[in-house]
Amino acid sequence: MKRYQLFIDNEWRDPRSNAWFETHDPYSGAAWAEIPRCNADDVDLAVSAAARAFEGPWSTMSASDRGMLLHRLGALIERDAEHLAAVECRDNGKLTRDVLGQMKYMAKYYYYFGGLADKIQGAVVPIDRPKVYNFIRYEPMGVVACITPWNSSLPLTTWKMAPALCAGNTVVCKPSEYTSASLFELARLFEEAGFPPGVFNTVTGFGAEVGDPLVRHPDVHRIAFTGGDEAGRKIYATAAQSLKRVSLELGGKSPNIVFDDADLDEAVKGVIAGIFSATGQTCVAGSRVLLQESIHDAFVERLARITRTAKIGDPADPASEIGPITTKPQFDKIRDYIEVAKQEGARCVAGGRTLSGPGYGAGQFIEPTIFVDVTNDMRIAQEEVFGPVLSVLKFKDEEDAIRIGNDIRFGLAAGVWTTSLHRAMLMSERLKAGTVWINNYRSSSYTTPFGGVKHSGIGREGGIDSVKEFMEAKSVWISTDLKMPNIFAGE
Ligand code: NAD
Repeated sequence: MKRYQLFIDNEWRDPRSNAWFETHDPYSGAAWAEIPRCNADDVDLAVSAAARAFEGPWSTMSASDRGMLLHRLGALIERDAEHLAAVECRDNGKLTRDVLGQMKYMAKYYYYFGGLADKIQGAVVPIDRPKVYNFIRYEPMGVVACITPWNSSLPLTTWKMAPALCAGNTVVCKPSEYTSASLFELARLFEEAGFPPGVFNTVTGFGAEVGDPLVRHPDVHRIAFTGGDEAGRKIYATAAQSLKRVSLELGGKSPNIVFDDADLDEAVKGVIAGIFSATGQTCVAGSRVLLQESIHDAFVERLARITRTAKIGDPADPASEIGPITTKPQFDKIRDYIEVAKQEGARCVAGGRTLSGPGYGAGQFIEPTIFVDVTNDMRIAQEEVFGPVLSVLKFKDEEDAIRIGNDIRFGLAAGVWTTSLHRAMLMSERLKAGTVWINNYRSSSYTTPFGGVKHSGIGREGGIDSVKEFMEAKSVWISTDLKMPNIFAGE
């Protein structure tokens, strides 16, 4: 079995605890690698290395040279995309072809933010008083902790780390305990690219043992977190004690709204991709579909018919379209939600079963599942399942769609299917979500911000402005008239 070591200060080290834990392949169920089980001592080592790099070589390097390093890293990721994808798939069970696409696209984040590194400019302010000159400098914050979940380990780390490094910060990354291996493979590329020691560091293990001490560490200045809202709230509360800046990318229960004037052939494909891509294990899953009454029955019939054709199986098989559930607790949670939906009176029109036997590995599979007769007060309409389970609701008109769409504590994303420009504009204005997709779903890019409102989080990742989320503005006042008033002489 492969045993990984930590990458701290450009050195490969055993954890201070001298303890490891096993990581499993969700398809076969077999343990395949050992991950260092870190504690607060490793956190201290990693943060100290990052703090030294921040004060030392990273701060004296020009922004252009920093950008070149990020470029070099992007090129190495492109070169090794297949290897990174293979490791990520083995750990999280996503379809190999999807993850390969993700890895190649990830390289572009480093190109984009590498290019931005020497283009973040301050400003000279036309200040409202004479004989003084004022300018703004944007400065990096220091050590950034990047904490990520299991569903897209490297891409979600990249969304934080690329702008954080671009801005001149150093990082300590803490991946999910279920999907840590790929971060060590990425660390090899940092080493090869020639980053100075301490710019990029890893700690691995469990939330309470390593995530919490990382958030508490006095030399961590900024926390960038993606994960569930429960852990997000805890981290926010802990960070508040030392007034650290925090960004939180949390869960969702996004409405995907289909009007009767939509191109229904496209809408049905968009709804299916919206919920069942990545086996429903994505934060932006369009897990609440709102159908206008007049098209409801026919649309449900088409949805169910296509859903039943999904090829379910080994994620490494290019023919597979639905893979296993990544973790056992998540598998159990989804099964529980399917029972809850039935007890609440929702009717299952597709899927609903778990799959085991030949072709299904260790049996951690759930059929893509559709529930109809769902009302918005049901748990299956309000709570994040994070799996291949779709709730279908009805609405009457635009106002009804907006009311139901927004009647939820989350606000990550929303989809709208219509051919009416008026409706498209109205919905994009009125839906309370960080992203609204009109006649598409799940599009994302390094060039534009992503994040949530309400319980879906705080802050944005992606786009030029995301670099400033990792910087502080400093206002500098320079007097051009050296005479100061003597306040005790009535001046
Ligand atoms: P999780 O919240 O359980 O864990 C996320 C990370 O936080 C892990 O690395 C975990 O070890 C760490 N952690 C847990 N408790 C901690 C603590 N007290 N202090 C510091 N770190 C702690 O989430 P998960 O189950 O791994 O992932 C699924 C969740 O992530 C879903 O709710 C999903 O919606 C969300 N998610 C959100 C986005 C987004 O961009 N909005 C993207 C993907 C996933």
